[in-house]
Amino acid sequence: MKTKQCYKCHKKFPATLKFFNEQPKSEDGLGKFCSKCARAQLFALLKWYYGITREDWNKLYKKQHGCCAICHRPQTELSHRLGVDHDHKTGKIRGLLCSICNAHYGWFEKFKYDIIKYEPKPKPKHRHKI
Ligand SMILES: [Zn+2]
Ligand SMILES: [Zn+2]
Repeated sequence: MKTKQCYKCHKKFPATLKFFNEQPKSEDGLGKFCSKCARAQLFALLKWYYGITREDWNKLYKKQHGCCAICHRPQTELSHRLGVDHDHKTGKIRGLLCSICNAHYGWFEKFKYDIIKYEPKPKPKHRHKI
């Protein structure tokens, strides 16, 4: 069987999707890192980017029963991993969202007052700064 060496842990694994993540752009269609290292990499990235640890992520994941916090679609039905949504002002983690909700929520947050303004009723008294 064809084997492939992980770039990170340098261990050799069978060159299959069971041991490596899918990477359609690469020559063999597999990622550089074994699935274990790819996972570790992802959590290292989460920690760096959001300040969330693997435990925090798992806690949220469990709390939301593995579903998106807004549309409640389970992770198993999604093509992308649930992303961390955090309050941009306070940096506080709000929850895990699917990529669609995450993108639209950000969009809604940004334009909600314009949306209210656009809708004739009810009229907002003041336009708050976002
Ligand atoms: Zn590895
Ligand atoms: Zn969603």
